[in-house]
Amino acid sequence: MSLKLRNTLTRRLEALQPITPGEVRMYTCGPTVYDTAHIGNMRTFIFEDLLRRYLLYKGFKVIQVMNITDVDDRTIERAIGEKRPLADLTEHYTQRFREDISRLNIQSTEYMPRATEFIPQMVEGIKVLLEKGHAYKTPEGSVFFDVSSYPAYGQLAHLDPQQLRTGERVVDDNYEKDEARDFALWKARKPSDGDYAWPSPWGEGRPGWHMECSIMSTHYLGDHFDIHCGGVDNIFPHHENEIAQSRCMRETPFANLWLHSEHLIVDGQKMSKSLGNCHTLEDVLRQNYSPEAIRYTLLSTHYRQKLNFTFAKVQESQKALNRLRELVRRLEEVEGTQEEAGIQAPDKAVEDALDNDLNISGALGAIFNWARELFNLLDEHKLSARSAGESLQALQRYDQILGVIYFNLEAELPDDLAALIREREEARQAQDWKRADAIRETFLTRGILLEDTPTGTIWKKA
Ligand code: AMP
Ligand code: ZN
Repeated sequence: MSLKLRNTLTRRLEALQPITPGEVRMYTCGPTVYDTAHIGNMRTFIFEDLLRRYLLYKGFKVIQVMNITDVDDRTIERAIGEKRPLADLTEHYTQRFREDISRLNIQSTEYMPRATEFIPQMVEGIKVLLEKGHAYKTPEGSVFFDVSSYPAYGQLAHLDPQQLRTGERVVDDNYEKDEARDFALWKARKPSDGDYAWPSPWGEGRPGWHMECSIMSTHYLGDHFDIHCGGVDNIFPHHENEIAQSRCMRETPFANLWLHSEHLIVDGQKMSKSLGNCHTLEDVLRQNYSPEAIRYTLLSTHYRQKLNFTFAKVQESQKALNRLRELVRRLEEVEGTQEEAGIQAPDKAVEDALDNDLNISGALGAIFNWARELFNLLDEHKLSARSAGESLQALQRYDQILGVIYFNLEAELPDDLAALIREREEARQAQDWKRADAIRETFLTRGILLEDTPTGTIWKKA
């Protein structure tokens, strides 16, 4: 079956038909590096990682670009507020972002450009829009996109054309739908911008946020590419404006499929810096939750459903994961000639679910049903070494998509705890159960569960 994805532009499920057969070119809006990203942002990046991994699993070559927004209203405001050079600030948060995504097992993209590396190309793009009559200059040296020059404006966000306040202007990078009007392509330098201005034929200034993604996407992916992603808050104004600029600059369709993931919410509200209800990855890890449980939590709800964040959910995720890891361990122990039960791995069910707009719950459901059957067969000693080996291979295959089972599996225990496990084994051999139990308690307070198996003591996150 072919992969069907829900296109925000048409509001329909559409089959992915790559422009170049066998290759998918996609652009995913990256972080604005003015602060540490929160786990709400990470939900969107994990959805994009799931899409990327599934495309790779299906055998496509993937060329993915994720930009770093290192110049916009927020980054400049923060740099000036903190009296810190902009490049210093953005470099710091870019590194933090790279660390966070790698801690969540989000794969690196083929390209990760920074907006400040592309300002001359943005200036060229704005020149084209001026020449074609889609933009106009203001006396102070800014350039605005004229939304009335592009009749399809509002298609992505479903704007009512009556709502458009043509001829009126909005300078901010982000604003609400009811403020839809001409938006800034180039912002003339203001005193509050400090030193952060670049040259242009219209005087010093800086590009608008939307222009950045129009230029960086097509630079790497060509004027017409397959998929453009982001969170739902990117639909308007960011992606609406990107489409308007790009189509008017080059008169090509720009991106074929527009995918948007729903928000991570807290008590019914979007997790966001401005509401002060966010957790960074660091915050959550510090409370002894594992990165793989956080990844599982953010991954396991369908991307178009809101996901309410709770720590209880992270604990449930850890349990689900532990069950799959337990399965790996039990399957690895199977040896000799046990009965052949002939159990089939659920490749088809997993692929059918994911082909249907990345229905992750369906895919996980199929995996867990199969795992339950495997546990039963293992308990009854009805699984041959060959079937166990094939089942392990299937788990490895599914984990190429999920990135949670084998990731961090071999995580090292801190030295002091590793020594304590040895001490507990000695206590058990000496039948000093009191000491053994006390050590188990110590582990529990550190969020780790010890389990005694016939082949020795194993540990896992509680
Ligand atoms: P920003 O750094 O604000 O540009 O956001 C980076 C990405 O995170 C964008 O694709 C946003 O749509 C997405 N995002 C922001 N807040 C949330 C949230 N609470 N849940 C899911 N995605 C979000
Ligand atoms: Zn963008």
